[in-house]
Amino acid sequence: MANTAEVTREQLAGGIRAMGVRPGDLLLVHSSLSSFGRMAGGAEAAARALVDAVRPDGTAFVPVFYWGDEPFDPETTPSHVGAITEAFRKLPGARRSLCPSHSVCGIGPAAAEMFAGHDRAHPFGEGSPLWRLLERNCHVLLIGCDHRSSSMIHVAEEKEGVRYLDRQRTVLVRTEDGARQVTLRRPGCSRGFGAVDAPMRAAGMISESAVGPSRLLLMKAHDLVETARAILKEDPAGLLCGLDDCEGCREARRMIGEA
Ligand SMILES: [Zn+2]
Repeated sequence: MANTAEVTREQLAGGIRAMGVRPGDLLLVHSSLSSFGRMAGGAEAAARALVDAVRPDGTAFVPVFYWGDEPFDPETTPSHVGAITEAFRKLPGARRSLCPSHSVCGIGPAAAEMFAGHDRAHPFGEGSPLWRLLERNCHVLLIGCDHRSSSMIHVAEEKEGVRYLDRQRTVLVRTEDGARQVTLRRPGCSRGFGAVDAPMRAAGMISESAVGPSRLLLMKAHDLVETARAILKEDPAGLLCGLDDCEGCREARRMIGEA
């Protein structure tokens, strides 16, 4: 069934507010532009709506992760996690954290504090933006996507110290005279993160709404991470996927000692 109505920036911001997000709040968003069918003003309008939802004193955050071969340059490196995040990165006032693989963009007064030192932290470890956002119990909003996109769950893996966090990758960072290599912790696969859904719903931790054809899920970071930690305490492989093509999760199971 085709939905031909356009979703507007005002509808999206209003829809987020109607779920309980207030001016002054901290809002971490994962998003799918295509989930709207048609968005009036495209990705930029959607990105602006995220900021509108917490205006004037709040701060909106989006992941702007990057897995390309070019050296990371915070000014120019694109986001590889969706059109809304890439449009957000280009908005006036957007700040970006300095992790070359898993940087985060934010607009609002809390961004600088959340981002300090991300070039010296693991992507989701202590001192990373998402670790700090958890400490502030931000909202986590999923727009047209599910928990498989929810990077905050990686903070639960860090808090529990799962063995498969020991994997590393080497990336390049742009310097004045070329590039230098940086070795970073490589976060695990997220395709098993849907495991948090049933226990969170059973506990009433997820609010669900819709804006046009897009489904919105809103939760608090603390509820999300504590649910994920409980799963990991029960089974260290509990957030790994069972997909046949996932060598990463097979390797992770070997590291845990199950395979
Ligand atoms: Zn996997």
